[in-house]
Amino acid sequence: RVVVGTKVDQNHVNWVTAYNMLTGIRFTVSRTNAKMDRDLTDADFTAKHKFSFDITGNELTPSAKYDFKFKDYAPWVFRHLRSTFQLDPADYLMSLTSKYILSELGSPGKSGSFFYFSRDYKYIIKTIHHAEHKFLRKILRDYYNHIQENPNTLLSQFYGLHRVKIPYGRKIHFVVMNNLFPPHRDIHRTFDLKGSTIGRDFKEEELEHNPRATLKDLNWLRRNLHLEFGPTKKKAFIEQMEKDVKLLQKLKIMDYSLLVGIHDLERGNEENLRDKTLQVFQPGGESADDPVHANMLMRTPSKLETARKAKELRQMIKNQKPIPMDQTTSKMPDEMQEGRKNFYFYNDDGGFRATHEDDGVGEEIYYLGIIDCLTHYSFIKRAEHFFKGLASQESQISAIPPERYGDRFVRFISGVTKTREAAEREKIEAENM
Ligand code: ATP
Ligand code: CA
Ligand code: CA
Repeated sequence: RVVVGTKVDQNHVNWVTAYNMLTGIRFTVSRTNAKMDRDLTDADFTAKHKFSFDITGNELTPSAKYDFKFKDYAPWVFRHLRSTFQLDPADYLMSLTSKYILSELGSPGKSGSFFYFSRDYKYIIKTIHHAEHKFLRKILRDYYNHIQENPNTLLSQFYGLHRVKIPYGRKIHFVVMNNLFPPHRDIHRTFDLKGSTIGRDFKEEELEHNPRATLKDLNWLRRNLHLEFGPTKKKAFIEQMEKDVKLLQKLKIMDYSLLVGIHDLERGNEENLRDKTLQVFQPGGESADDPVHANMLMRTPSKLETARKAKELRQMIKNQKPIPMDQTTSKMPDEMQEGRKNFYFYNDDGGFRATHEDDGVGEEIYYLGIIDCLTHYSFIKRAEHFFKGLASQESQISAIPPERYGDRFVRFISGVTKTREAAEREKIEAENM
């Protein structure tokens, strides 16, 4: 919520793409979910289905506003993944409705990917490179098995892999994944940590213009920050991180980071900021300029309305009815999703609360996870390794092979995981040396 995005309405350059993405997701997800559940087969991991949408509609697909092609990858695997992550199918569809507009965070990274938040901020659509897409398909079974064995994983939760293409347009691949940050709490500071120091500095003077910027390793160290977890949480956190990183190393993945959003409970939510950011996520689009509908769209549906809608949708899914495109509403939740409560690291109001040495609760809630984990070593890193390697010591550059990348990542994150008390003690010891 604290990420200021641009509302994607009809005047937005990516409106058609966003509309097509949502229409395709809604169609394919309700199509798969309408069927009786079954066990996965080998073929499910490589499955892909192509659909053509047009203005008139045909026997398979309903009519859509624009002509486009949509590809759905491994729908049954993702259905099972969504179920492991305890997403409610009706809820998922409600969030990714095409009537309520996404907000775009145009390419925050260097990669050129685009990020779209669902209207209620629960989900992120990230456009990915063809190579990343191919890679995810290749590792899907390993990822799936890992998730089954580690439902409390810190890795990005993938809920869908799709492709859209408009006539004469290029192919756009994208994933749907969890937004680590909560819709209902301000994130006061965000860090993207890799365990490297080279190039891992956000210019402090730019913070003035961009107080919500994502900071990096050196900014973290400069502030002498820690992930303040007492013995119990620290053990669980590091053990899970190690398991997750083992998988990434095995799959020769690198360049991932630990995304950390810090909510300071003493500061709480600053209402001003809250209102301002909420505006960014106000629905626009179709009827926004039409005063009658605009009002209707701007109104946040009540809990009862949302619950009723969800019930209707569940009924339709059960009766294997196609879900009409505009049959949903969506709202900014004022509390965390139910499902997340069952996951260890997302259990304290959607995050993982700091603890003291006696395991008593601390002053912050951390919202964290390992993100950007689809970069295979062979893609770009070999060249980068070569060039950077000439100039700096290997222990400091980010482009080192996956084994060492993972080891360094774990070492760094474990090293900064300590309670306030422990950090204090170390500081005094260092001063007395
Ligand atoms: P690059 O390859 O240049 O690092 P990228 O386009 O692959 O960039 P990511 O590293 O995946 O992008 O993400 C960029 C930023 O987007 C993150 O630093 C974070 O601020 C935000 N972001 C990414 N994934 C999530 C997520 N799951 N939840 C919340 N924020 C996210
Ligand atoms: Ca990244
Ligand atoms: Ca990337």
